[in-house]
Amino acid sequence: MLQAPYPELDDLLEMMGEAGKRLSEIEASEGAAGNISICLRWPIELRTRFPVIDEIELPQPVPELAGATFLVSGSGRRLREIIDEPVASIGCLVVNEGGLTGKLFVSYQRRFERLTSEFNSHLAVHYDQMLSSGTNFHAIIHAQPPQLTYLSHIPRYQDEGYLNTHLLRWQPETIVNLPEGIGFVRFRVPSSPELMAGTLASLRQHRIVIWAKHGVMARSDVSVKRAVDRVEYAEAAAKYEYFNLCAGEIGEGLTVDEIRAICQTFNVQQSIF
Ligand SMILES: [Zn+2]
Repeated sequence: MLQAPYPELDDLLEMMGEAGKRLSEIEASEGAAGNISICLRWPIELRTRFPVIDEIELPQPVPELAGATFLVSGSGRRLREIIDEPVASIGCLVVNEGGLTGKLFVSYQRRFERLTSEFNSHLAVHYDQMLSSGTNFHAIIHAQPPQLTYLSHIPRYQDEGYLNTHLLRWQPETIVNLPEGIGFVRFRVPSSPELMAGTLASLRQHRIVIWAKHGVMARSDVSVKRAVDRVEYAEAAAKYEYFNLCAGEIGEGLTVDEIRAICQTFNVQQSIF
């Protein structure tokens, strides 16, 4: 939830650009992989930067979000290029009354035909979170961090308990920043209704979820960068786990007692250790 004064359109575009740049720096967004969206409920002026208006059908009805604005990366756009020319890569969707359709505001410089192909999952999670928490702001990113994604190919890491007890043991910050741990959705075809449903359910319990053999989705109701931070914390944990596998598993990791002591000191509620 954000308090007034709310960020303006240019601030939001800049934050999306910086998020895209950071995801590219950590090699979680090769080529046109990954996508970013935010949902906000305060009035915002779009026409100056995005004067062309299309009517589009929404992937699902979202009647309670009538009037809400979504800023969404375009299909096939590179996240690292948003920062240089945001209007070429981002579309702004305002939900119409009734929640079945929306007005898509785009620029004459747009370099995409449609919004990201994962918009069905983005919209479903935004809708669920906006309604359940009552927040006025929500950010979602999908990225493809290599170590997390690699571990999701190894059968024993496909168990959520095993995954979390092994990844959250390498740095004290990890449990503090991801107290609910990392969710896991088994392989589903990209853009499918099954991926959407699994993601929606997992992000009710977690702030970040692994899409097996594909990547991650992370959310935040504070900022786009906070969602990126979650990807970084999870990927750092996976990097240590990967190092440890390569080194023949000689690392000790934080012990359960050490992790519980960290949680007690920093008042972290968790049920993983
Ligand atoms: Zn992807």
